[in-house]
Amino acid sequence: MALNSVSDTTLPTDRVANDTSPSPRRVTVLGATGSVGCNTIDLLQRHPEKYQIEALTAQSNVDRLAEQARSLKPRLAVIGDAALYGALKQALDGTGIEAAAGKAAVVEAAHRPVDWVMAAIVGAAGLAATLAAVRQGAIVALANKESLVCAGSLMMAEVTAHGATLLPVDSEHNAIYQVFDFEHRESIDHIIITASGGPFRETDLDTMATVTPEQAVTHPNWKMGVKISVDSATLMNKGLEIIEAHHLFDLPSERIEVVIHPQSVIHSLVAYVDGSVLAQLGAPDMRTPIAYTLGWPDRIESPAARLDLAEIAKLTFEPPDQERFPALELCREALKAGSGAPTILSAANEVAVQEFLAGRIGFLDIVRIVERTLERVPRCEITSLDDVYGLDAAARDAVRALIEG
Ligand code: NAD
Ligand code: MG
Repeated sequence: MALNSVSDTTLPTDRVANDTSPSPRRVTVLGATGSVGCNTIDLLQRHPEKYQIEALTAQSNVDRLAEQARSLKPRLAVIGDAALYGALKQALDGTGIEAAAGKAAVVEAAHRPVDWVMAAIVGAAGLAATLAAVRQGAIVALANKESLVCAGSLMMAEVTAHGATLLPVDSEHNAIYQVFDFEHRESIDHIIITASGGPFRETDLDTMATVTPEQAVTHPNWKMGVKISVDSATLMNKGLEIIEAHHLFDLPSERIEVVIHPQSVIHSLVAYVDGSVLAQLGAPDMRTPIAYTLGWPDRIESPAARLDLAEIAKLTFEPPDQERFPALELCREALKAGSGAPTILSAANEVAVQEFLAGRIGFLDIVRIVERTLERVPRCEITSLDDVYGLDAAARDAVRALIEG
């Protein structure tokens, strides 16, 4: 009775308040021209009344950035490659949109006060800008998983220190976030991250040794940037996601399970101590997790296809094959070892993936090289950003030395 009367009086009033003051959320998109960036832009274009754009950033695609800027009218557009400043300025001529260029300008854009920032730069290159967004205390929609892998403890400490809200965009972590009872952590037994298995789920080792970059970037269910596509093919992506989940949900490796689920319909699950397992499902379309973070704590419409379970008919699961996909165990070991091992692993993987894409090493060499780099580079506790950048550089040098020598 008492409960009813409370909800009767408070809920409708809250709703009315929300309905009458729809002030647009001020947002910035870092990595606007990439796969996650373009999906974010698509959602922003569908909800013009809800968002006011402060800044868009990209590394080198001036044409796409200028097109996005002309459509969304941000105050600022930034191109990371300083040599492209003139081209961007020209492309924005007559729009009144401020143009800037260079690494520092990307970080400054991330630091401009807004309500919400999409961190969708790929790799450790996104760390400084993602941290800048965290330090202004914004809601940070985190796609840039490498920044958590290479500097997880620092990043989480900054989130707390600056009162930022970190919302995972990665579909698995977004799924877990949606069904994770943060107020009753003791009721959670473990989490289960699903993996599609990538394009080589059923490929034997001999064949895997000969696959081409084109084959590796052809993901069965998702259309993504090249780096994460290769990571999905080696399952390094899933290993990075174990480390990402460790930081986001404060769970040890032993309580983070991985299961192969080729249909990519169940995006991940949380297992509770009473035996209940809660999952989030949806079509494999990044606009669903991105929309979740854009609307949070409300929900907004996304154009993602609606699930037709009867048509899907069958969902299947299998354990990951540790022999063909050693990256998973390597990531677990790095997480347990700590002392900068995940920083070295992530940087080594970035370079090895680039080398594979350039045709200089084979597909199976990627994980072998990461493993050898972990053996070679001396570790140190990560207590500052300088420690991260030092280990990152040492790992990149070690990979190049391994390949050249
Ligand atoms: P992408 O390669 O398609 O896009 C990367 C974006 O970052 C581009 O806008 C590019 O201009 C920018 N960028 C690249 N290097 C930069 C640099 N040095 N400085 C500043 N900007 C730079 O990548 P993506 O697939 O969109 O992935 C972005 C991030 O999101 C990655 O960390 C990835 O792991 C994560 N993620 C992506 C997906 C997906 O569906 N694509 C899903 C989950 C997580
Ligand atoms: Mg993912």
